[in-house]
Amino acid sequence: MERRARIYEGKAKILYETDDPDLLVQYFKDDATAFNAQKRGTIVGKGVMNNRISAALLTHLAEHGVPTHFVKLLSDREMLVKRLQIIKIEVVVRNIVAGSLSKRLGLPEGQALVEPVLEFFYKDDALGDPMINDYHIRMLRLASGTEMEAIVDGAFRVNELLTEYFDRRGIMLVDFKLEFGRYRGQILLGDEITPDGCRLWEKETRERLDKDRFRRDLGGVEEAYAEVLRRVCG
Ligand code: UDP
Repeated sequence: MERRARIYEGKAKILYETDDPDLLVQYFKDDATAFNAQKRGTIVGKGVMNNRISAALLTHLAEHGVPTHFVKLLSDREMLVKRLQIIKIEVVVRNIVAGSLSKRLGLPEGQALVEPVLEFFYKDDALGDPMINDYHIRMLRLASGTEMEAIVDGAFRVNELLTEYFDRRGIMLVDFKLEFGRYRGQILLGDEITPDGCRLWEKETRERLDKDRFRRDLGGVEEAYAEVLRRVCG
């Protein structure tokens, strides 16, 4: 598939058009940002690792009935994806207290939640991705009621499937962020599922195998991503 015009460059990825109007090339960079891009850096080899991790996880989800934008891997850093009209909502699913939930509600990091918690954030960098609820989503016309049903059901299903998938590989799925989009009247899971947007803790040691190593200057960032890749792709 020929890569054509660059249509979008984000913090960690670039999207290119192809000669098929329904398909895009998603290119994974090594750039890393945190705290609404106030902290910037490079995680060497991240793009290559995230491309493979996301491909494996999205394939697993598709095989279990979750429709996604993933089509196929093209190269080390590139995958072919369906061109979605992205819904401007970041959907966060949480199983264990961490990050902003811990700060917002004053709960200790690591406390297990009795049931998964779903949160929505308005995908708007200038506003710093504020938290929103169903009423804001309706007011801003970000998604219809039917679309939200598909998104909520999809997010919980992804959580069930990935919690089990990671558990079998000795990893706790603490929380993660998903993005969905519209494609020919259907809601598909888009974006990526990687240690950039998931909290993944080693089951025995509770060692962090995700972007918190970068956010919190814990060291061993590349090694953590490589460990996730090893456990996911064997
Ligand atoms: N997350 C993300 N992009 C964002 C914000 C959060 O991918 O812009 C992910 C993050 O990696 C974590 C989950 O969503 O797995 C929950 O993040 P949280 O709200 O705790 O925010 P943080 O502490 O990362 O600021």
